[in-house]
Amino acid sequence: MRASKIREFNVVRKDARKVEVLFGYAYPSTYRTGMTSLATHLFYSILNDRKDTSCERYFRYDVPSPCHSMESSRPLKDNQVVGFSLTYEEDIVNLIQMLELGGIPALAADRSESDPIVLVGGPVPSSNPEPYVDFVDAFAIGEGDIVIHKIIDSVAGTDSRTAALEQLAQTDGLYVPRAMPSEVRRLIISDLDALFHPTAQIVPEVAEGDKLEPVFGKSLLVEATRGCGHSCKFCLVGHVCRPWRTRSLNRLEEIITKGLAETPVHKVSLISSSLGSSEGFEELAAWIVDQGYQLSVPSLRADSVSKGFLSSLAKGEQRTLTIAPETGSPELRRSTGKALSDEDIEHTVKLAAESGFNALKLYFIIGLPGESEQDVAAIPMLVSRLGKLASMRITVSVNPFVPKAQTKWEREAQAPIEVIRSRVRIIEKGLHGVPHAYVEPLDPRNARIQAALSIGDRSLGKAILIAARHPGYGGWRKAQRDSGIPLLSMANEQRGQQGDLPWAFIKS
Ligand code: SF4
Repeated sequence: MRASKIREFNVVRKDARKVEVLFGYAYPSTYRTGMTSLATHLFYSILNDRKDTSCERYFRYDVPSPCHSMESSRPLKDNQVVGFSLTYEEDIVNLIQMLELGGIPALAADRSESDPIVLVGGPVPSSNPEPYVDFVDAFAIGEGDIVIHKIIDSVAGTDSRTAALEQLAQTDGLYVPRAMPSEVRRLIISDLDALFHPTAQIVPEVAEGDKLEPVFGKSLLVEATRGCGHSCKFCLVGHVCRPWRTRSLNRLEEIITKGLAETPVHKVSLISSSLGSSEGFEELAAWIVDQGYQLSVPSLRADSVSKGFLSSLAKGEQRTLTIAPETGSPELRRSTGKALSDEDIEHTVKLAAESGFNALKLYFIIGLPGESEQDVAAIPMLVSRLGKLASMRITVSVNPFVPKAQTKWEREAQAPIEVIRSRVRIIEKGLHGVPHAYVEPLDPRNARIQAALSIGDRSLGKAILIAARHPGYGGWRKAQRDSGIPLLSMANEQRGQQGDLPWAFIKS
């Protein structure tokens, strides 16, 4: 059944005959997830602000068609560039499906002069693009805010797809696999204040709680910070998005004032990998809620949150406090590089309860290098202590460790699926009888696929193509069988300390 048309505010429709470049911005997942991503709004605005370019959006699910644009039903194939944002490894199958549904050959080698250039960016390819090289003409490695203009200039400057790709291959921050470069530099932008930020953001006209509503509700997304100053050994953001950068309060107030005038919402969502109040955000939060707006932040740094900041969040109608202790045991937490004590967590939870929060979401990782069953048993013990400190509904999100390229633990093994399952059982048993605590475990089968794609090399291409053509987990099993690549267990082996890794050519 085809989804019905979605009414949206701030959509840009241009006459395709009056521009030089048609760009398809494609998000290989649901409409809701894609519209929650700041990148969607950022690139849509940057590209449509150019007189010579028309950018229209495509999503894999919950839209009338995955290969016709939201704005004008423009076929995906009619664009000169189709730019995908790949945030989650497994979405590569959705990306391939969108190409094939749109009549674009899945394999870059099969594309001709009349096909679009398939561009892929995001943190996943920026850490290890190699598993995806069969399907992609060019990767944006690192932050794409500035390099996007060079891409459009290259495409606008020639009628030849081949010539445009040759030019892209010479551009810093772009990786064109067929040019076989020996080194590619990852782009990181130093001054956030000087960067464009979208203020007229697209908002769907849907009811609260509708499956199309963005994850943070209908809100103005405001990027407060980028990257992270910590580098927890498992964390991609802490390694490929370094260093921590923040916008100044003046610039943020300017963006929010303009944004709320141009976007019909009553809520501001501050985007940051983990926000504290120490950088002046307490003042910013108070400034937002004192004007009567709602406010939300995705997760907080439990070691630097003040009572005033939490009170502003509560006044802004945020009721759930999200923090990531990662482990139950402080020793294991220290070994991951996460400098957060149990006391920090307990203190923040207490403050949140006093401020009016009524729900707590905690993120944990299991199967970490060096982890024992006692470490896992410490998770329900910590949750139980927090439950006694504050009467809140507690959601315990449990995710298996996934070794990620370019992190300190890129060579570590992922625990076998049986170990992960038995550790989830330890947590569930330990939480039995803890009031208002609920476990939300990630399917460990997905974590196996994520791990293979995170640390794999270009030989995975043939397995990925099979999985894309046979949806669901069964497709991955078939891919393993038919390709002969043991992808479902390939991350279970620890890699030796010697030897280059597939992504060694990417330099910071
Ligand atoms: S886990 Fe959080 S604090 Fe640690 S590096 Fe990642 S974003 Fe930073």
